[in-house]
Amino acid sequence: MNSQSRTGRYSRQELFEGIGVAGQQQLSQARVVIIGCGALGSAQAELLTRAGVGKLRVVDRDFVEFSNLQRQTMFTESDAANRLPKAIAAANHIREVNSEIVIEPEIADVNHSNIERLIEDAAVLIDGTDNFATRYLINDACVKHDLNWIYGAAVGSYGVTMTIRPNVTPCLRCIFPEAPPAASAPTCDTAGVIMPIINMVAAIQVTEALKLLTGQEEVLHQSLMQFDVWRNEWRHISTGPMDADCPTCARREFATLDAGNPDFAAVLCGRDAVQVSPSQPGRINLTTLSERLSAAGEVKLNDYLLRFRTGEFEMTIFQDARSIIRGTNDVAIARSLYARFVGN
Ligand SMILES: [Zn+2]
Repeated sequence: MNSQSRTGRYSRQELFEGIGVAGQQQLSQARVVIIGCGALGSAQAELLTRAGVGKLRVVDRDFVEFSNLQRQTMFTESDAANRLPKAIAAANHIREVNSEIVIEPEIADVNHSNIERLIEDAAVLIDGTDNFATRYLINDACVKHDLNWIYGAAVGSYGVTMTIRPNVTPCLRCIFPEAPPAASAPTCDTAGVIMPIINMVAAIQVTEALKLLTGQEEVLHQSLMQFDVWRNEWRHISTGPMDADCPTCARREFATLDAGNPDFAAVLCGRDAVQVSPSQPGRINLTTLSERLSAAGEVKLNDYLLRFRTGEFEMTIFQDARSIIRGTNDVAIARSLYARFVGN
């Protein structure tokens, strides 16, 4: 006798004719990967957790801050005060909501060296990222491995989503051959965002995931869906056929996966912060590093990361040797601080 029938936890969802007892069983056996656990990722994780998806892999590179709490529902004030990595804070919250599911938190910057491992054994991937570079990487990996994924984005009161089924529907690159130029489009850090649009986009994404996981492709919305909850605009744009000349799904060139070393440093969008990653992933002993750095400035340490303040800069250093350096948008300054205090 399984715990579901004992507790009746999913009884309302099993009554829903689109899912039923058989659909619930399918959900309980599936693994879903969420890439990025900010606002969208939080909402997606909560919906999937309560729906009883069997395994949830949550990947995020960042830590919780107070400015996240307005819209990132996985996190609490104590997570922000303790600067917990978002993947860990989300895992803690998910376990309290639903102890029946397996949660696999991954504190990682998704890149060409780890994406194929991160999507292994997944039934579907849901986009919770905030940038096109990572979405093209997801698109390449998912087309290469024939994994369905659900694009989603939200800024201000506007949101957009599309479900991508490799070899069946257009891929992200078919629809958007190029990313918008850097700094040309509004971001959540320049235009803000309200939580209702986050929930709206996540609700559509997760509903599409539930359809896919229960084998009901015929009810997918099959469009580029756009909405603005403040201006009351709703649009379905038919995505048409796959682009016969698409480098990704037609020619199967996966440029982002084949890249050599990723950029050593990347500017984080609009946050007055730069992420620096070592060219070779490594492992840092944070306790030893904190002893070394305490002579040079204020150091705080938890089980997952170290925070070091020097002058107007604040460096957060993770066990995998990545650092997020706040107080600059200048990659050269960030690299120099990394070299001085972490070394490479
Ligand atoms: Zn394509």
